[in-house]
Parts: sequence; structure tokens; C-alpha cells
Amino acid sequence: MTQTPPFDAPTFRRQLHQHPELSGQEQHTSRAICEQLQGFGLEPITDIGGHGIICIIEGEHAGDTTLLRADFDALPITEVASHGHISQKPGIMHACGHDGHTTSLLKVAEQLSLTPPPCGKVILLFQPAEEIGTGAAAMLSDSKLSGMTIDHAFAYHNLPGHPLHQVIVKPSTFACASVGAKIELQGKTSHAAWPEHGINPTSVMLEIIEFLQALPDQYRDVFSLVTVAHVKLGDAVFGVAPGSATILATMRSECNQTFAAMQQALSDKLAHLKLHSELDVHLSWDEPFQAAVNDEAHYQMVKQQAQALGLNVTELAEPMRWSEDFAEFLAQTKGALFCIGSGEHHPELHNPDYDFPDPLLETAAALFLALINDLHQIESLERANS
Ligand SMILES: [Zn+2]
Ligand SMILES: [Zn+2]
Repeated sequence: MTQTPPFDAPTFRRQLHQHPELSGQEQHTSRAICEQLQGFGLEPITDIGGHGIICIIEGEHAGDTTLLRADFDALPITEVASHGHISQKPGIMHACGHDGHTTSLLKVAEQLSLTPPPCGKVILLFQPAEEIGTGAAAMLSDSKLSGMTIDHAFAYHNLPGHPLHQVIVKPSTFACASVGAKIELQGKTSHAAWPEHGINPTSVMLEIIEFLQALPDQYRDVFSLVTVAHVKLGDAVFGVAPGSATILATMRSECNQTFAAMQQALSDKLAHLKLHSELDVHLSWDEPFQAAVNDEAHYQMVKQQAQALGLNVTELAEPMRWSEDFAEFLAQTKGALFCIGSGEHHPELHNPDYDFPDPLLETAAALFLALINDLHQIESLERANS
């Protein structure tokens, strides 16, 4: 009988790191994950909402279903590093640590393949296209997943700026809703000497910028933010009065209802401007994310299991300003998103010199397994039924 070698997680992670793939184009990464799961004797289900994979591990007895999620897409960033596993793909790198998230979930897969949970079902979910905010929703709407009842959902993100292995938790909103708003104003150019012969978008453009910057003031009770990211008016010439303008802004809020109200306010404002100017006004939304809202009991579970493992736990006073499309799972299933510190002086996420810290592979897997252990023992089934 041939002995399968134990899973070498850091080596696997570094291989993923060397071969990063952009959101929506992760076919090779997906295949590598799938082959590794098969190597553990598991039966992955592939091509879910694109290159997504799920792997279901069932216990002997009935019980709850828990979903653990890891993402696996990379970013259009050129890596600057001297280590031996630098990206082999020019202009693409694992700058957010999704190579690590996925590898730690594979460690969980290895362990559960050896010791399945006594009760219920564990769904290990490997998700593509997180960075563009579409992967989670695409997987959830796929018929291979959409019919399943899921009782608990957990995911983590590594987080530079915090001590290595520190578990970062927060009740309620963990990460903000966000969206990119692209506003295009189309008028008509004219000779700069006769601006009155054209339709000049300058004053409307300035009014929109002022409106965007003042918008969060209307929603002071929760954290909300609008950042005007880019503005273009006409072309860089002296002889022409501008005939078009483009504004790009990013909107954020910790509250999904407030966020929807902010989006509606912008739509209404633009509809009003369109009606009262000769300009054609067009609004489009890009990369929408809901706020990731943790369930109280599940946030407590993460905190308790992390403490039981002897990990340092800290609680955020405010939600993360960034967004995470795990929010889509939390909108449907009770669960929690948390972070694990990547080191206080570790390069930031999306920096060109970022690299996932391998010691976290073990920590993340241990915490996931502790959560599974807590939710899928015979006693937890009895507890739920009593
Ligand atoms: Zn990222
Ligand atoms: Zn990320």
C-alpha cells in the first residue's frame, strides 16, 4: 500500500503564489485545489459560479451544516520581492494573501478527511473573484449550492498591522459596504472664444463633486464615506470649451440601509440635474459590496474558540473600511468574518512587497477546526435539541 505524503502547506502556498491568476481567470488555481482535495480522498464539486469549488464532508449523524470559505484570486500588481517564490506571471501577484487563505482551508480539508466531524456536514468552499466583488454572489446563485441549507458560515482575512496570530473580531458590521460610482456628463464642445455655443458640463460637474463630498454628513449616526477618486473635464487643450466630464467616486458605509439611501440620493440628484440641464447624465455602479454583518452568537464563537486556543484576541472599535464579498454569505446565513494578524510591520495588503505569512496557515486551520469541533460534536447536537 502506498503511503500518501503529508500535505506540505507552505510549499503548496508558495506554488500558488508563483502562479497567480486574476479574478475570473483562476482555472489553474482551481485545478490545483481540486487535485489536492482529491489527493486527500475527498470529492470536490467544481465549476460553481465560475471556477468555484465546494467539498462536502459529512458526519455519521445528522446535525448542522457549517460552511468555511477561502478565496483564491490574485491582483493586477507587479510583485517586488527577492524570495524564491516570486510571481512567475508579469503584472499579477497574490498581494492579498488569498493563496494563504486557500492553503489554510486545505489544511482543514486534510484534517477532516482523516477525522470527519461526528455530526452534520462541513462545506469547504473555495471562492474565485473576490477582489472584484462578484465571486460570492455567483457561487451562491449556482444551483449546485443555492439549494443547500447552511446553518453557520465563517471566513477570515489576514491583516497586516496587527501582531502575528492575533485574532481580530467585531460584533455586528465587520467590513463596510462599498461601490464605485461612475458619473458621465455629455454636452457639446465649442470654440473657447464662444463657450455659449456649446453645452459646458463644468458647473454641473462641480455641483456633483460638492454633493458627493457633503453626502456622508446626512448620515452621521453610522460610519459613511465618499471619496472622489478621479475627475476628467474636456481635453487638455486651450482652444476648446469642454463638452464632457467624468467623475469616479467610491462610496462606503457600515450600514446596508444607509448605503442604499446614499446610492438613492445620488441617483435622485443626477436625475434632477439631467432634467434641469441640457446635459446627458449617466450613472453606473461598479464593484458593489454589501456590508459584512456578523451574527452575535457566531462572533462570540470565534472569540471563545480563539481564546481557548490561547490566541491573543482583540476587538475592533470600528468596522474595517474595506469590503469583503463574504458579506453575500452573511446576508443569507448566520456567521462571522474575522481577521488574523499578519505581523505589525508586515507589508500592507495590495502592496507590491506583500507575501502571506506562512505561520498563519497553522493558526487559521486550528481556529477553523476548533469551530467545527465545537459545532459538530454529538454533545452540540444534543445541546441544540434540548
Ligand atoms: Zn484584496
Ligand atoms: Zn483579500
